Amino acid sequence: MKITRISVYRKDLPLKDPYWLSGGRLKFEVLDATFIRLDTDAGITGWGEGTPWGHTYVPAHGPGIRAGLETMAQAILGLDPRKIELVERAMDLCLPGHLYAKSPVDMACWDIAGKAAGMPIADLLGGKRETGTPAASSVSSGEPDDMLGIIEAYRKRGYIAHSAKIGGSDTDKDIERIRHLEKHRKPGEIILYDVNRAWTRREAAIVMNGVADLGVTFEQPGETLDDIAAIRKVTTAPISVDESLVTLQDAARIARDGIAEVFGIKINRVGGLIKARRMRDIAIAHGIQMFIMATGGSVLADTEAAHLAQSVPQEFIRACWSCQDMLAIDIAPGSGPRCENGFITIGDEPGLGVIPDENLLGEPVAVYEA
Ligand code: MG
Repeated sequence: MKITRISVYRKDLPLKDPYWLSGGRLKFEVLDATFIRLDTDAGITGWGEGTPWGHTYVPAHGPGIRAGLETMAQAILGLDPRKIELVERAMDLCLPGHLYAKSPVDMACWDIAGKAAGMPIADLLGGKRETGTPAASSVSSGEPDDMLGIIEAYRKRGYIAHSAKIGGSDTDKDIERIRHLEKHRKPGEIILYDVNRAWTRREAAIVMNGVADLGVTFEQPGETLDDIAAIRKVTTAPISVDESLVTLQDAARIARDGIAEVFGIKINRVGGLIKARRMRDIAIAHGIQMFIMATGGSVLADTEAAHLAQSVPQEFIRACWSCQDMLAIDIAPGSGPRCENGFITIGDEPGLGVIPDENLLGEPVAVYEA
């Protein structure tokens, strides 16, 4: 089987409500999404998506994906999409780095490989756990009572996992936010406090030690792995790393040096499932739990992450994410697993199990053929 055509689509995905990270420092209203369709000489088609969370969150942006695809297209055309490590090597050879631009190609290859094998991607990744994965809400930073209000709205829809965004120079406010949400946390509920790199080492020490009695988990409490390793030495709370978990070397270092107890694996951030599954295996081998999610995007990106999440044993998975719930538009109506009663559960359809409505994507902005 050979890849014969790459069609690239660009689509704005507006958020239902404006969204703030890091104590209000970063605001987001629309996501620049890239969708790709891979056609093959076997008549099997695969779909991929790359949707960074804006361009101020991590080093990734929509135009960069499309430029990367243009650079890599001729190296990808003609390859067998089922031999995903060969596609990975071809992309890494012709464009080192730029992981987020490769992720949509990787997704489309897994979609095709699954369709060719008659199996969902989660089974190709080793085998689908039968239970679904809790989806974590994403709670915009703000006043403590407003944040609790967002959690309560998600609770009514069955959500048991929440990622509450904190961080900023007002350490008293962060302590107030955490104590308020923990006071109202329900039994069995998971609340992750996500700092999104917004603290200095001093601020991290003040807040994390200020709520040490609560035993809550913090995500990305500093800018770099060096910062987080230093914060780890002066605090006791469990730590999750996502934005600084980019390469397999990062994963190995975090595991070996005991920098974090949780991996936050963002598929687009790390360069696709082929690379993310190696991080999964490092995590399992070192007793590290995982949040697995898209960096952002539609039902396609959510479903890709849900496949990997459902290939993880129950005791190692914390939650995935339903970013699509935050979007004002749906590009694949009636297709793919949706968040139901707070969980995403992968079906038995082969491949990704989601097909976007091409009428909603519009005309491709680029088509590459051998
Ligand atoms: Mg995070």
